[in-house]
Amino acid sequence: MKPWEKNIRKVVPYVPGEQPKGDRLIKLNTNENPYPPAPGVEKALREMDADLFRKYPDPASSLLVDVLAEQYGVGKDQVFVGVGSDDVIGMAFLTFFNGEEPILFPDVSYSFYPVWAELFHIPFETPAVDEDFKIRKEDYYRKNGGIIFPNPNAPTGLELGLMEVEDILRHNQDVVVIVDEAYVDFGGHSALALLPRYENLLVVQTFSKSRSMAGMRIGYGIGSPRLIQALQDVRYSYNSYTMNRPSQILGAEAVKDKVYFRQTLDKIIKTREETKDWMGKMGFSFPDSKANFLFATHERVPAKTIFQALKKEQIYVRYFDTPRLEDYLRITIGTDAEMEALRRFLEAFL
Ligand code: PMP
Repeated sequence: MKPWEKNIRKVVPYVPGEQPKGDRLIKLNTNENPYPPAPGVEKALREMDADLFRKYPDPASSLLVDVLAEQYGVGKDQVFVGVGSDDVIGMAFLTFFNGEEPILFPDVSYSFYPVWAELFHIPFETPAVDEDFKIRKEDYYRKNGGIIFPNPNAPTGLELGLMEVEDILRHNQDVVVIVDEAYVDFGGHSALALLPRYENLLVVQTFSKSRSMAGMRIGYGIGSPRLIQALQDVRYSYNSYTMNRPSQILGAEAVKDKVYFRQTLDKIIKTREETKDWMGKMGFSFPDSKANFLFATHERVPAKTIFQALKKEQIYVRYFDTPRLEDYLRITIGTDAEMEALRRFLEAFL
């Protein structure tokens, strides 16, 4: 090690799913939406003037904050927007998790959480989900420095009922509790309903899945004005202009089209339920996903074998080579045609 290297912060980074290149592949590995964003997004994009880029963007992203506040029936001072929900959650770790006690999140959940905790030197513990991958709410009834969990959970797709989420909140009113709702629009129940009762609750959602805009990088957190103010203070102490102008404008367009939003979600949910049906008949089992993916294991053939065979066929799904997950594949719900190609291949292969 060179002397100057000793002051370098050492981290083991999060590894996102592969972004393979090519036209003919079927991409079911990073939970993107298979349908395009709302038509108004494309229209606004075409009408956009490049002169817009000359000036700095609105640091408060007011355009987007206003439509989100209206959409969710909350105050404008209750909305924080960031560059993807990763940005929002990262800021939230930095802002809210500064105690001595360990923060808590499930052992099976979003694999970015331990990375942020390590990066910001936050102590953490990871209560194990049960043998059916369900979060045990009682594990969170103890002294801690804060709590975060995805709901529905990733990569399982399992939802923790709203009453159980509230039980966790009721037992944890002295710390900040973050519910990461990246997948909630695909059939989950949002903890936004609990906001009026819990000032320490932050609900985080994203445009990356249900609004088909992973490439624009838009996420948001909704909580009490005091939580949001604290997040803003930290953000403005780091980078004032996180969200670029096109994201603000196009994101606002996406929220306006409620009909398209509902139609796209319904299509994905229908395809998911049909996929559950044929995969079950093929010898797969999976938790009852309320997200836009299935977390599936086969009764006979190892997940890794299937993963590799699919990849050869240019069908990409996600495989996690880690304890508890190594028997499973996480398969994003694509279009009907994509799922049909998957079905045909699996039928022949298995
Ligand atoms: N939370 C969970 C549970 C996720 O799976 C993801 C997607 N990787 C994110 C947050 C972050 O998504 P984005 O930054 O695209 O909003």
